[in-house]
Amino acid sequence: MTDPVLPPVDSADPFGFKRRGVLFVLSSPSGAGKSTIARKLLAAEPELGMSVSYTTRPPRPGEVEGKDYHFVDLETFRAMVANHEFLEWAHVFGHRYGTPKAQVWNVLEQGRDILFDIDWQGAQQLHQLAGGDVVRVFILPPSMPILRERLEGRGTDSQTVIDARMERAANEVSHWDGYDYVLVNDDVEACFANVRTILAAERIKRSRQTGVIGFIRKLLRAGGAAD
Ligand code: 5GP
Repeated sequence: MTDPVLPPVDSADPFGFKRRGVLFVLSSPSGAGKSTIARKLLAAEPELGMSVSYTTRPPRPGEVEGKDYHFVDLETFRAMVANHEFLEWAHVFGHRYGTPKAQVWNVLEQGRDILFDIDWQGAQQLHQLAGGDVVRVFILPPSMPILRERLEGRGTDSQTVIDARMERAANEVSHWDGYDYVLVNDDVEACFANVRTILAAERIKRSRQTGVIGFIRKLLRAGGAAD
């Protein structure tokens, strides 16, 4: 079992604030630009690590074991399910995909964040498991023809696979209301900026801050108010 790839974190805060981490879910129909945004986010946010899923899908050209996915056979995947090694798992495009438990809870308590590139089924399961720790962001393409163009431009899938992905995209989009935020990826930089803003705001949400009460007490004492 591999842990999410996370850097060490400096949790010293001058005001004694500590925070729980964010389980940050990015979903979209494939081709809507989610992977590009995830990559940019990981590069820009040192406190954010990536959850690397397990899948029974064969690797695409250029995909790296342990970085894009852990590629396993059906038998291994089934054994992992039986051993309760997944936080959630789902069937997608005739293959199985699962999020390893690894050290997710520890990472959260340390105030670090994890990015999940999972579908709506995974987002739903994660939300049921971890409620307020989860922030779900859904990225839409500007139009279905543009989505098809992007899939064809990737040059990684056959026409049959692209047709299937287009069909599935419509289904995926119908689950938009299972998300906390819905964004359209027309301009990738603008969409990325919005995703970063969401992460920044969610990090400082009061429900994630554990040191606030101590600070408030000190603040009021210093100001002469009754404790
Ligand atoms: P792809 O085959 O294009 O890499 O991924 C297909 C879909 O599976 C994407 O929508 C991706 O977000 C989703 N996916 C990848 N890993 C997981 C996972 O661990 N759990 C779930 N539920 N979906 C996943």
